[in-house]
Amino acid sequence: MSPKLGPIGNWGLEIEKNAIKVNNALDYQTNIPGVYAIGDVNTYPGKLKLILCGFHEATLMCQSAYKRIFPDKKYVMKYTTVGGVEGFDGTKKEAPKAVVKAIQ
Ligand SMILES: Cc1cc2nc3c(=O)[nH]c(=O)nc-3n(C[C@H](O)[C@H](O)[C@H](O)COP(=O)(O)OP(=O)(O)OC[C@H]3O[C@@H](n4cnc5c(N)ncnc54)[C@H](O)[C@@H]3O)c2cc1C
Repeated sequence: MSPKLGPIGNWGLEIEKNAIKVNNALDYQTNIPGVYAIGDVNTYPGKLKLILCGFHEATLMCQSAYKRIFPDKKYVMKYTTVGGVEGFDGTKKEAPKAVVKAIQ
């Protein structure tokens, strides 16, 4: 089994061993500003092809992309354990206030 990059292999991205080189010290951007690569498709020193690593890369990439898309907006990080999340049924799911207070 060998991965194929397909058309993105011709975008002018820096490729190493069939994977896209990224800036792992910052935000997983490629050599083309504003183009990110996360997950198994990227490579950097110490890269591990694991789901956990892909999630970590996605978190940092999203924060960078947010700032790029909304340069004038202040980014505020929120914990879902504290602020809750919107459920698929439209209702907000959140931990009871007493539980949140206990873990803070
Ligand atoms: C057998 C096996 C066991 C594993 N076990 C674990 C484990 O226990 N724990 C762990 O953390 N990780 C595990 N991994 C690694 C984990 O599966 C990967 O790190 C993770 O799936 C990578 O996610 P990804 O979204 O980057 O890539 P992928 O999950 O590979 O998703 C890429 C998607 O892009 C699609 N695609 C490819 N080319 C194109 C194209 N040209 N156009 C459109 N779509 C395209 C593919 O079909 C695929 O659906 C395992 C991997 C394997 C192979």
